[in-house]
Amino acid sequence: MSKIVILGAGIAGHVAASHLRRKLPKEHEVVVVSPNSNYQWIPSNIWVGIGRMKPKDILFPLAPLYAKKHIDYKQAKAISFYPEGDAEEVKPYVLAEYIAGANKGTTEKVTYDYLINATGPKLNFEATEGLSPGKNKTHSVCTYTHADEAWNALNDLIQQMKQGKQCKILIGTGHAKATCQGAAFEYILNVEQELRRHKVRDMAQITWISNEYNLGDFGMDGMLMSYGSNIMKSSEMVEMIFEDRGVSWILGAGVNKIENGVAHYETLEGDYKTESYDFAMLIPSFSGHGFKAYNKDGEDITNKLFKGFMIVDADYTSKPYEEWSVQDWPETYQNPSYPNIFAPGIAFAPPHSISKPRKSKNGTDITPAPPRTGMPSGITAKLVADNIIEIIKHSNNELHHKGSMGNMGAACIASAGFGMTKGSGVSITTYPIVPDYNKYPDTQGRKQGKTFGTIGLAGHWLKLALHHAFIYKAKMKPFWWLIPE
Ligand SMILES: Cc1cc2nc3c(=O)[nH]c(=O)nc-3n(C[C@H](O)[C@H](O)[C@H](O)COP(=O)(O)OP(=O)(O)OC[C@H]3O[C@@H](n4cnc5c(N)ncnc54)[C@H](O)[C@@H]3O)c2cc1C
Repeated sequence: MSKIVILGAGIAGHVAASHLRRKLPKEHEVVVVSPNSNYQWIPSNIWVGIGRMKPKDILFPLAPLYAKKHIDYKQAKAISFYPEGDAEEVKPYVLAEYIAGANKGTTEKVTYDYLINATGPKLNFEATEGLSPGKNKTHSVCTYTHADEAWNALNDLIQQMKQGKQCKILIGTGHAKATCQGAAFEYILNVEQELRRHKVRDMAQITWISNEYNLGDFGMDGMLMSYGSNIMKSSEMVEMIFEDRGVSWILGAGVNKIENGVAHYETLEGDYKTESYDFAMLIPSFSGHGFKAYNKDGEDITNKLFKGFMIVDADYTSKPYEEWSVQDWPETYQNPSYPNIFAPGIAFAPPHSISKPRKSKNGTDITPAPPRTGMPSGITAKLVADNIIEIIKHSNNELHHKGSMGNMGAACIASAGFGMTKGSGVSITTYPIVPDYNKYPDTQGRKQGKTFGTIGLAGHWLKLALHHAFIYKAKMKPFWWLIPE
């Protein structure tokens, strides 16, 4: 009998738990430890942030589903890791603190045979002075609660615009090393369309602010893609979209301080500037959760498990940008010191950024961190689950299931406005996510034909279809496993 503990019930944790439970006989225990009582389909937060969906449309409670599927669920948060156990406990365990229920505030040593750390990112608002959702007129769409608050504030502003107030809206990244530009891009387009729907578009100046060097970098160093019968740079595509919609942009900006309605930022040229606004949605930097780890004797071994995020089978050797290679990226998401620990999704430490690192003239790093979107999070979680299943079933320590972001594609459909007839979507498919300059030297590291972009109403329908398909899959309804990650 084996016990698999999964930390986190986001895209990666939930995918891993579902596959493990479906494929493993019932004598094996599958335990999920996660602080939020709900599963949320994060990509649809964008629609919550423009008031076109309610939080209840994008979430469902985990406890009843897990009870029905024989997955043990603890509404608790992991605090520290003991991969060798301790003086009293011979088994490896994670110390977790209950968040709700009769045990609220108490801790438990959750022992395991296999551990999947799928705790995603910490939304590190503290890294930017004054950046806090709902304060200083800044908002976030990173959780359904944040997105709902963002919509309430935006709606207030729309009412003021209807009374004749001219407004400034600022959307983008709120830190010099933030990632998730795609989500901010999607939000700015949706906000722009919503203002038009409310007939107040002419009352607002909308500005994109980003740590990207070029528009459409998205933390992936941009891409050269097929667009209809043409080849186009993602920078050209985004520029075309922004110009078409009257959105202006500030690039190479490391936002470092927020005051009420004022964003302070440093440019790559080393200048310190400000941008005022009436409403801002700025994505914070993402960091690891700051977990600690201890060996059997109680000594701190955090650096065996974590490098900010969790250490896996990546090549973390520090080397110049020119020497980085696609082979540096992990394939099995297994911790090298403790082979029964894995970290799929966002929880693993990337070996380096994908975009070319840049510093301001003052020495500040201003570069998007690598994005790790939903599709690779699901794929890496499934392959980790499949490897654990094989180890358990065949007592075989070889990991046959592998997948690197250097041989994995990502399909991102950014909704660009909600509505069955008036909606729009910008669909960008990239293969591979991490450019492979050896395999595809003439096309900026990406395979042409498998890297493409489209704009149109079909994109909106597809995004909406994916929303329903992935919530259906997450609810583990009949034949859910046929829907790919
Ligand atoms: C607004 C927005 C829009 C997005 N849109 C898209 C999109 O259109 N397409 C796309 O592919 N990707 C999109 N993404 C990215 C996508 O949401 C992430 O790639 C994905 O959620 C990462 O999955 P994950 O499981 O690694 O982390 P998460 O989904 O963040 O899950 C982490 C889990 O860990 C739990 N947790 C946190 N701390 C602890 C702890 N101490 N102990 C135990 N559990 C803990 C959390 O509660 C959560 O359940 C978007 C992201 C945002 C913010």
